[in-house]
Amino acid sequence: MRLAGDLHGPSAAILMYHSVLPDPSRQADSLGGIVHSESAFRAQMELLAREYHPVSLDQTVKHIRDGEDFPKRSVVVTFDDGYADNFEVAMPILNQFAVPATFYVTVDCVENKRLPWPSRLRFAFRRTKQISWNDSKTDSKTDSNSKSWNLSSPLNREEAFLAACNSCCQLSGAAQEEFVRRIEHELQTSLPAESGSLMMSYDQLQKLAGHGHIVGSHTMTHPNMAQLKEDDAQRELAESKQQLESRLGAPIKHFSYPCPALSPHWSERTVEQSRALGYETAVTTNSGLTRRGDRLLCLKRLHPTKTVEGLRWNLESAFAGRTV
Ligand SMILES: [Zn+2]
Repeated sequence: MRLAGDLHGPSAAILMYHSVLPDPSRQADSLGGIVHSESAFRAQMELLAREYHPVSLDQTVKHIRDGEDFPKRSVVVTFDDGYADNFEVAMPILNQFAVPATFYVTVDCVENKRLPWPSRLRFAFRRTKQISWNDSKTDSKTDSNSKSWNLSSPLNREEAFLAACNSCCQLSGAAQEEFVRRIEHELQTSLPAESGSLMMSYDQLQKLAGHGHIVGSHTMTHPNMAQLKEDDAQRELAESKQQLESRLGAPIKHFSYPCPALSPHWSERTVEQSRALGYETAVTTNSGLTRRGDRLLCLKRLHPTKTVEGLRWNLESAFAGRTV
């Protein structure tokens, strides 16, 4: 596969991580499947340092812009959402193996010490003691099938959760908060307040930057940007940039599109909005490699599987030009 990779020209793989914890199962009902175990993450970073070429996002941008070739088998590590474990667990491992990373932060969640809304909804639907849920806001005339949800099995609960996500991802700011609180009220359960300590602090973000890592924006409130009204999308892009810049005292040049539900999660309009606000790059969750000449405001990424052998397979397949 390495020979095949050489034929496809230089490319970089941008990996998308979220959370790294010693025991991922402890947060299964809030964070779901986005957590890597600390031991697997350590083995994956060791693999990158040994067999690939870890580079920073800024180096990759320079290569794309200046038309220089990428170092062969370049890999960029990124994290979405802004969990405290990024600083506490992942950063020491990254530093040990000299892997530079970019951390995209959901600013309102850092500011208010609460998990992004998908975790709050997942927890409510998984932990509620109720065996059915009457969605008080569904219009029974046009959508009678989804007015009442059976919650008697894990599968039923997952279906109801996904339906709620499809609605909530179209909201931002106060309207989104109202939606989540209504569901927590109707299901009579909510994440304990101490789960807020799972989010990073500004002090931790300062320290990440101090170690040479990059901090970027992942919006204010984690909506699907392509499903928002234009002015709401504008607010998410602009306020998160301004707030991070004033808190960290440094320009914020990089953005990551949340992909909580529905498709697409970015559009030509959001690309234009991010360009006008001065973002240099934006990463999406579309799967693929980055090549010279790619558009910097809608870069593709790869989902790293949860094992070291899985990651090697992801990368070798991608560099060999196979869809992953
Ligand atoms: Zn996210």
